[in-house]
Amino acid sequence: MPSAKDEAKEESLVPAQIEFRGVTKIYGQVAAVRDLSLTVRRGEFMTILGPSGSGKTTVLMLLAGFVAPSNGDILISGKSVAAVPSYRRDQGVVFQSYALFPHMTVRRNLEFPLEMRGMKAVERAERVDRFLDRVHLADLGGRMPSQLSGGQQQRVALSRALIADPPVLLLDEPLGALDRNLREQMQDEIRSLHKEFGKTTICVTHDQEEALTLSDRVIVMRAGRIEQTGTPEGLYDRPATCFVANFLGEANIFEDPAFKIEADEAQPSGTLAMIRPERICLAAATAPERPDAAHRQSVTATVNKMIYAGPLRKYHVSFGKSAFIVRQHVGSGQEIFEHGDKVRLDWLRSDVRFVMA
Ligand code: ADP
Ligand code: MG
Repeated sequence: MPSAKDEAKEESLVPAQIEFRGVTKIYGQVAAVRDLSLTVRRGEFMTILGPSGSGKTTVLMLLAGFVAPSNGDILISGKSVAAVPSYRRDQGVVFQSYALFPHMTVRRNLEFPLEMRGMKAVERAERVDRFLDRVHLADLGGRMPSQLSGGQQQRVALSRALIADPPVLLLDEPLGALDRNLREQMQDEIRSLHKEFGKTTICVTHDQEEALTLSDRVIVMRAGRIEQTGTPEGLYDRPATCFVANFLGEANIFEDPAFKIEADEAQPSGTLAMIRPERICLAAATAPERPDAAHRQSVTATVNKMIYAGPLRKYHVSFGKSAFIVRQHVGSGQEIFEHGDKVRLDWLRSDVRFVMA
C-alpha cells in the first residue's frame, strides 16, 4: 500500500503545469467561458474539443494572456499569472491562420523568437538549421511564407513556436486549413514533435478524429463549460452524455420507451441506452445465430438505405420507432443489402452504454 506521503511525492514528480481555478470570461452579454476548472500536467498533450462557439479559443487566449479572466485565476507552475503580460508567459503559440511574418523569409521567421531572447547570431543560425532539417524544410529557408504550401507554412509555424524551447505549446485549430491527407501527415508530425520535445501542449479543435488521435486527454466543451474530461478511449467508449456520444462520432440512441433494452449494467435513472454503429452486427434475417447469441440482443430491422464509403458500408436501418446507423467493414463474400431488405441486427449486451439525456 502506498502511503499518503508516497502519493504526494508521486504527484510532485508530475506537477500540474497549468491550472484554471473557477475561470469565467464574459464578453458583454456572452459568457464565453463559465466557471472553468482544469489542470494540465507537465508534458501532457491535452485537447479541448467542442463545437464552434463553445469557448475553446477563449481558453487559449486566457492562457496566453491575450485576454484577462472576468473571474477566477490561472496558475502556471503553481503561480498565478494574473499580473504576467502575454510576452512574458513563455509559450509557443500556433494558430490556424499560420500568422507567419509575411515580410520575412522562413529563416528570419524562425530566428525572430531567438533574437528576442538575445541569442547570438552563430547560435541562432545553428538552431534554425537544425529545426529546418527536422521539419524537412532545409531547402526552403530563403523563401517567403507566400511561396510555401499550407502544410509547409504550418511546419514553419510549429517550428517557430518550438524553437525558443518554451515549456508550453498552445495550438488553436492548427490543421483546420489543411486538406484531409495533409492533415493526417501533420497529425503524425505533431505527435512525433510532442514525443521528441515533450512540451506541455494544449490543442484546440472541433475535429473529433484529431482530438482522439493526438491527445493524452480530451476535454469536451459545450457552451463555455466542460461537459466531460477523459482519455480518448474513455470518452469514446464511455460518454457520459448524449452530447458527448454524438460529438465524438456516431451514436445510436434508444429513444423509444416501448423498446426493452437488455444490458449487463443496470440503467441509471435519467439515462438513455446508446450503442456505437460499429458494435452492431448486421446479417440476413434468416442467417444462422451467432455462437455467442446467448450474450446478445437481436432485432429484425428494415434497410432504409446503404451508403458505400470505401472501406465500409453505412446502413440506415429501422425497427419499431427506432432509426439506427450500422457500419460494416467491406469484406469479400459479404452479402450486401438494399432498401427494403429485412435484416437481423445483433449486439453484445456488454456493448450497451447509458448516457445522460
Ligand atoms: P470557439 O473557439 O469554441 O469557437 P470562442 O472562444 O471563440 O469559441 O467563442 C466563445 C463565445 O464567445 C462565442 O459566443 C463568441 O461569439 C464569443 N466571443 C469570443 N470572443 C469574443 C469577443 N472578443 N467579443 C465578444 N464575444 C466574443
Ligand atoms: Mg475557436
